[in-house]
Amino acid sequence: MATVDFDTPLRDVVGGKAATPLDKALGLRTVGELLRHYPRRYAERGELTDLADLRVGDDVTVLAEVRSVSRRKMRQRPGILLEAVVGDGRRTLKLTFFNQAWRERDLVVGRRGLFAGKVTVFNSTRQLNSPEYKMLDGQDDADLVGEFAGGLIPVYPAAAAIPSWTIGRCVEVVLEVVEPPPDPLPASVRARHGLLDLATALRDIHRPADWAALTPARTRLSWDEALPLQAVLAQRRRAAAARPATPRPPRPGRLLAAFDAQLPFTLTAGQREIGAVLAAELAAAHPMHRLLQGEVGSGKTVCALRAMLQVVDAGGQAALLAPTEVLAAQHARSLRALLGPLGRAGELDAAEQATRVALLTGSLGTAARRQALAEVAGGEAGIAVGTHALLSEGVEFADLGLVVVDEQHRFGVEQRDALRSKGDAPPHMLVMTATPIPRTVAMTVYGDLETSSLRELPGGRSAIATSVVPAGEKPSWLDRVWARIREEVADGHQAYVVCPRIGDGPGGDEDVEPPSDGDSDDTPARRPPLAVLDVAPGLAEGPLADLRLGVLHGRLPADEKDGVMRAFAAGDVDVLIATTVVEVGVDVPNATVMAVLDADRFGISQLHQLRGRVGRGSAPGLCLLVTDAPPDTPARDRLAAVASTLDGFELAELDLEQRREGQVLGEAQSGRSSFKLLSLRRDRRLIAEARQEATALVAADPELAGSPGLAAAVAELVEQERADFLEKA
Ligand code: ADP
Ligand code: MG
Repeated sequence: MATVDFDTPLRDVVGGKAATPLDKALGLRTVGELLRHYPRRYAERGELTDLADLRVGDDVTVLAEVRSVSRRKMRQRPGILLEAVVGDGRRTLKLTFFNQAWRERDLVVGRRGLFAGKVTVFNSTRQLNSPEYKMLDGQDDADLVGEFAGGLIPVYPAAAAIPSWTIGRCVEVVLEVVEPPPDPLPASVRARHGLLDLATALRDIHRPADWAALTPARTRLSWDEALPLQAVLAQRRRAAAARPATPRPPRPGRLLAAFDAQLPFTLTAGQREIGAVLAAELAAAHPMHRLLQGEVGSGKTVCALRAMLQVVDAGGQAALLAPTEVLAAQHARSLRALLGPLGRAGELDAAEQATRVALLTGSLGTAARRQALAEVAGGEAGIAVGTHALLSEGVEFADLGLVVVDEQHRFGVEQRDALRSKGDAPPHMLVMTATPIPRTVAMTVYGDLETSSLRELPGGRSAIATSVVPAGEKPSWLDRVWARIREEVADGHQAYVVCPRIGDGPGGDEDVEPPSDGDSDDTPARRPPLAVLDVAPGLAEGPLADLRLGVLHGRLPADEKDGVMRAFAAGDVDVLIATTVVEVGVDVPNATVMAVLDADRFGISQLHQLRGRVGRGSAPGLCLLVTDAPPDTPARDRLAAVASTLDGFELAELDLEQRREGQVLGEAQSGRSSFKLLSLRRDRRLIAEARQEATALVAADPELAGSPGLAAAVAELVEQERADFLEKA
């Protein structure tokens, strides 16, 4: 056989019979892909798998002992059902085989075996239907026993068509013959951090001699995920910084100065500090790429507006992009309000330095749209507000100098890249997010941006008090919730009632990130989360009968949504019953109380975002987290944590601890979700070290010519990211 390297098709090495299911079920086509398909865990030959850990719906491979076997005629249709019960000493799992009575020969009580299949539930008993299996102590299986003589049996993420042990056997074959590629980790990096070479690490993760061999292998292979990514990001930062941009230096005595002079408050220390950073970066001849994170209400918008005004003063324009039309409209309103006469150029009461704010959304009428487009193209509008479509729809700017993107989470790295590569001199860019981002996430998902944080809330803002309302134990407390809402409304304030679900009808659920403490997997009896469309009529006829109620959710048409929001903002609606659509950016200072129903169905960050909607005015805010979850459950602990602190950064770290990796990454970016070993919560130090190494490597050798292995890994990552992007587009 010719040399086998990482690019060799598996078919050529393991044959079509195994290669086909590896490809079809697991997407593994090459030798390299198989070797990067690491065991999920390891079973120890003497030890049985803890059956309590199995989750319904998972493809599992368990090591268990046959407890009993029975055979009976099917009642509904002809045929024989063979049922075996296997156990781990405490729990049992049922195996069922239809018309395969001959398997009784293998499934002898007392024998141990590996059993693989998807966990299902039938008559509230967990079972595997027609699982694949390998009995371990039989004479026929001498070679298998020999194979696992080392003691640790790798258990691979598997599928019905290809059980774990077949994958293991293929890996074994491949490991024998493969020539590893140039090491993606340069020798200097390996030496500095005491890391194994690639071949050793791969052998040890697939065939560990003992438990002790695993950690060094895992660490080394985690670096394989961290370093190329950090190198890509370092290259990107470097390339971005090398591009030319039009400098937009501050001009004293113009619009920004007039704006500052009319501000009804003084900027916080944090706002001043960030203002200075932004002012300097906008004045530079290279584009700014900055992420500004800060709590809802921390004053980001003011910072962004001041940056926009500096650009306008320097003769350029700024665009503000929001994730939805509703938010774009709201941004335009609040910018116009902040600017006052400074934003009404061409109108009677305009100030001398004034500019205009153009709102460009799809729901604009033809004439209004034509006028807005003309203002943007002619430069009369210094500021254009819209959704991301603003940039793709070929809106012409006279001189676009700054793009501000609100709410980072819906704006990917590819889109940022697309923006940067627009025109000869790309605009400066400021990205704002109200979701505090843990450091490791910032370093990976947003690693191409410099970051700043606003950590203090502007003074004079009242605090938000948060309480957990245990409706399960104390049903009468729920009446108190409605009473509090009526009191606030009687005082002239407004309220939110938030539910996890919209309710029946097409579309189903929206936007609820399932909390992930694992307590929900095995409780099929749990009632569905409360829905807006069920709760609203109940409140209208019951506890809130005399109040003006509004309903807001993602299934409403855009103009209806906007209408409801407008009515709420104008004070024509007392209580808004909504889904998480209120999470993002909605700003009604007169709203002082929020009740979150089934609060345990939301994640930590989401609850924190939600409660940011109250206490935005001068009156104190109150957030009531209503839950049925019993005390001392992870769900209740999570709610208690949210109630105990207002520090979003602290909660973001906690959220990361509690969430599964995929949720953190999946929600943010595509290309990053391919981490197999690297954990953003466990590997903080490793990621920081990799970032440092990558930055140094790229600074010394931008194209990584001296590190061919790393250069290849970087190229592969970029290729994969492009593929993901094209797939999404
Ligand atoms: P964010 O965009 O971070 O959610 P905003 O910029 O919208 O926050 O600010 C929230 C509210 O606080 C706005 O009404 C704004 O006018 C006000 N605000 C901003 N900065 C200050 C400050 N330094 N002092 C007092 N109020 C402020
Ligand atoms: Mg805002």
